[in-house]
Amino acid sequence: MSGAPPLRIGHGVDAHRLVPGRPLILGGVTVPFDRGLEGHSDGDAVAHALADAVLGAAGLGDLGRHFPSSDARLAGIGSLLLLAEAARMARAAGLEVASAQVVVVAQQPRLADHVAAMAERLAGALDVPADRLAVTATTTDGMGFTGRGEGIAASAVALLCPVS
Ligand code: MG
Repeated sequence: MSGAPPLRIGHGVDAHRLVPGRPLILGGVTVPFDRGLEGHSDGDAVAHALADAVLGAAGLGDLGRHFPSSDARLAGIGSLLLLAEAARMARAAGLEVASAQVVVVAQQPRLADHVAAMAERLAGALDVPADRLAVTATTTDGMGFTGRGEGIAASAVALLCPVS
């Protein structure tokens, strides 16, 4: 028997409420829409789900543990900074993102024209080549809180490998 396999997988899920008077920021991209995501940070559920996947894969807990919403210094912070910090912590543990995918669940707005830009921004925050990231978008056929447009959800998986 050899030792533990060098690959680690992580999964992250997040959802935020859509509210008027805020920009809609997903994967670090500002998407034109009449509402945005509520949150202590910029509400970027895509970045949050991916950061949780990275931290989880590295065995480092989750975003809430490292960046609690009770921390007033984090109010309004850009979530790509949180994602970059998660990637830095994983690297300090000897791991980097080999491959990751985020699925955004939103009835509206239509996100197809924005997913490539999101993947680029997320890869930049992780400091890995853009082709290691994929972002896709789906709806729930009008069902549930995303279907009613009450919020937007995201689910992410990240495969981490030893730092090359
Ligand atoms: Mg969140």
